[in-house]
Amino acid sequence: MRDLFGAELRWFQHIEETARRCFERHGYREIRTPILEELEVFKRSVGDSSDIVKKEMYDFTDKGGRQVVMRPENTAGVVRAAIQHKLLNSNDPVLFYYIGQQFRYERMQTGRYRQFWQIGAESFGVASPESDAESLVMLFDFLRELGLEKLTLSLNSVGTPESRPAFQEAFRAFFQEREASFCADCHRRIEENPLRVLDCKVPTCQAALEGHPRISDFLDAASLQHHERLKDLLTELGVPFVEDPRLVRGLDYYTKTAFEVLSGDIGAQSAILGGGRYDLLVKHLGGPDVPAFGWAIGLDRLAMVLQQVRGAAPQAAPALLIPLGERAATAALKLARELWSKGLDVQLETRGGALKKAMASANRMGIQTVLILGDGELDGGTVTVKRMATGEQESWALGEVAARLEAHTEL
Ligand code: AMP
Repeated sequence: MRDLFGAELRWFQHIEETARRCFERHGYREIRTPILEELEVFKRSVGDSSDIVKKEMYDFTDKGGRQVVMRPENTAGVVRAAIQHKLLNSNDPVLFYYIGQQFRYERMQTGRYRQFWQIGAESFGVASPESDAESLVMLFDFLRELGLEKLTLSLNSVGTPESRPAFQEAFRAFFQEREASFCADCHRRIEENPLRVLDCKVPTCQAALEGHPRISDFLDAASLQHHERLKDLLTELGVPFVEDPRLVRGLDYYTKTAFEVLSGDIGAQSAILGGGRYDLLVKHLGGPDVPAFGWAIGLDRLAMVLQQVRGAAPQAAPALLIPLGERAATAALKLARELWSKGLDVQLETRGGALKKAMASANRMGIQTVLILGDGELDGGTVTVKRMATGEQESWALGEVAARLEAHTEL
């Protein structure tokens, strides 16, 4: 778990602002659910056999004897809330996004934290491939607006529970022929949920999977039709994708579409997010029979990629207003207040003291424009303006500061 501040936090803020703007534009609305949920919510949604539930949850018994968990992901909480508040009982589509901390007891690794942030979008009530496409287009436009270009959508269909037994049978047979090559976890997975073997990160297991039966060869007609239509739509919309028959995602409740987005901006392709369709989860958690589609992006990883690709996050640089002496300090507070009320970015030096010291601070803080207000300026009704980059100096009338500062910041 870590503290966020400075340049990295600025990226977090910029990403969050961009997310809100992009998602609200599509009609998605924010939802905030509690960090603590009952253990049962995750056992029933993420699944008993998942790594998250087996090994990674911060769960404990609270003072009232309830078994609770610091949420490891947010979809289950959103679905729980939507059912509890009867938000899914009409036939209308319900579109939500969330931004929040998640907690997993992960092994220490770069880019993997025990408290991390996710931004996600969930769309409820529509089963069509057009709904998948709408959500994916929103996601890609959001990532492009952030400045990420080298994106690849890795796509698969995991079918439906009806179409899975035939695949699982073929897959088990394949596994048994080479079971010595698989890790202990995979031996457990093949019993509990064979699909998860495909998800194993151990290199020898990935090698042993060469030539495995493909779930796409076992899809039911409806899943196949859904998948083909989605691929046509994505081609039509210019969203580049590759098919990945091993992509199954770690969670039990996915049906049909499963996907990840890889960013080529950081050398080796690396997944920055994942999601898919989960038509069975709402009913499974006790709600109405409502289909759904959603995804979650790791904010920590996204901020890291953006910092590498784009450097510092965009931020308005404030001017620094330095008063000299008590009379000027009063006038400076009034002037700053006028500038703030006009929406201008101004930082006020309130320590008093020598100009030299204040200018040295301005340098260290990376301030570009300094406004100096001394007795001489006050008497003349002006401020002295100094551009730090060039050392250039000029005098502005007090009444013009707001307008000139605005014009200046626009440059
Ligand atoms: P998941 O919920 O496991 O599908 O993860 C979705 C995204 O969340 C991943 O692609 C990562 O970007 C991010 N993520 C998951 N676990 C962590 C973690 N421990 N630390 C940082 N980011 C994470």
